[in-house]
Amino acid sequence: MLYLSTRAAPTGSPDVKHFCEILLEGLAPDGGLYLPERYPQVTATTLEAWRKVYLEQGYGALAFEVLSLYIDDIPAADLKAICLKTYTQDVFGTKEIVPLKRLESNLYLEGLSNGPTLAFKDMAMQLLGNLFEYELARRGEQLNILGATSGDTGSAAEYAMRGKKGVRVFMTSPAGRMSPFQQAQMFSLMDANIHNIAIEGVFDDCQDIVKAVSNDLEFKRKYKIGTVNSINWARLMAQVVYYFAGYFQATKTSAEKVSFTVPSGNFGNVCAGHVARMMGLPIDKLVVATNENDVLDEFFRTGVYRVRGSADTHETSSPSMDISKASNFERFVFDLLGRDGARVKALFGDALNQTGRFDLGADAAFKQAASIYGFVSGKSTHADRLDTIRDTFKRFGVMIDTHTADGEKVAREHLTPGIPMIVMETALPIKFAETIVEALGQPPHRPPQFEGIENLPKKVLVMPVDVAQVKGYIASQCA
Ligand SMILES: *Cc1c(COP(=O)(O)O)cnc(C)c1O
Repeated sequence: MLYLSTRAAPTGSPDVKHFCEILLEGLAPDGGLYLPERYPQVTATTLEAWRKVYLEQGYGALAFEVLSLYIDDIPAADLKAICLKTYTQDVFGTKEIVPLKRLESNLYLEGLSNGPTLAFKDMAMQLLGNLFEYELARRGEQLNILGATSGDTGSAAEYAMRGKKGVRVFMTSPAGRMSPFQQAQMFSLMDANIHNIAIEGVFDDCQDIVKAVSNDLEFKRKYKIGTVNSINWARLMAQVVYYFAGYFQATKTSAEKVSFTVPSGNFGNVCAGHVARMMGLPIDKLVVATNENDVLDEFFRTGVYRVRGSADTHETSSPSMDISKASNFERFVFDLLGRDGARVKALFGDALNQTGRFDLGADAAFKQAASIYGFVSGKSTHADRLDTIRDTFKRFGVMIDTHTADGEKVAREHLTPGIPMIVMETALPIKFAETIVEALGQPPHRPPQFEGIENLPKKVLVMPVDVAQVKGYIASQCA
């Protein structure tokens, strides 16, 4: 399997690469995102075989089946070992790894947030940690991951990379601005290869520092700086697996269809659903749920994609969906436009840079977003979240987090009789305790392994908004 850029010229031979070549890379050199040059097709016979694999051998074995269609430069036995050691009951809490919970007749929750940091990002990041360690050892290289986080991504990356050979993590976060639980999760890690840097500023300051360091090409090369952001193809690919696992739990035969609703921010999670659907998984609808930051809902309703400025980006009670633009969205638009890289380049490279928007509303392709690709959307507000959290607790005795609540609210607007609707549960309520208390008047359930985590010793370095100091610290650790 070869990978090409979403901005690759449609004529001539595009610059294509194998999986391990793009594993440690971010954007393609032309500014596009990597995608496989075609989607492997899964027949009904294969689906039935995979159903058996999942039910009898488990999630890790299913992951190996899916991933081996996309990775041809890691020996099968090694890839299988990586999948099996990543997805264990020990790390993810249940044999199913992503257990399905029925709320009512045909409405389900798929639990993606039972990993070490209690958010769905563990599903991909845990695999990435093992893939990185494997590939770096094979090359005899070292990688220094530099990131910026306001919560979920940073902690998922740290828990995935802790203790891994060949990898150091330098994670910046805005000092004092994460929830006490999130700070405790990250700062209590004592592993020598994990470095928390609290920046005396806001999240944008952290991101600017990461950009400034990455733009210093000499420093980047000398200190082997890499990232683990959501545009990484390996993360997206890992997420494809749980769409299959959800499907197998909700159905008995591959003649049945299901729909998924996905609480969305950067469009990574739901894009994995799109890939699963393109492979032939019988998905009826892919429902994109947003919060007040409705960039994606606006697109799927009108065809207008309009990047928000910072004044227009709201801080909400589902903060992991507070985005101004959706960094993985370009992948879907590439498929929507018949894989016309030149057009994608004109839209995402030129139009967005110049005017911050583009409009496909009058385009025939836009009508296909729903009819051919199954995409529909909706949005949810703080009041909706409170209502949904209350209603779900009252009627089913199930406590859901704020992001999952956005999903459930929008899912209910898109139910089809006879087709199971699966809402992706993207975090556990303990991560967003304040809103749970507001909705229910009682604190969320706390998994036993997180008892007293706020009182553990903390390892964190506080720095002003100063690129030179961050660089100096990285250099000092690499000496
Ligand atoms: C990251 C995140 C999301 C958004 O996922 P995308 O892949 O960026 O669309 C939703 N919910 C939670 C809890 C998250 O951490």
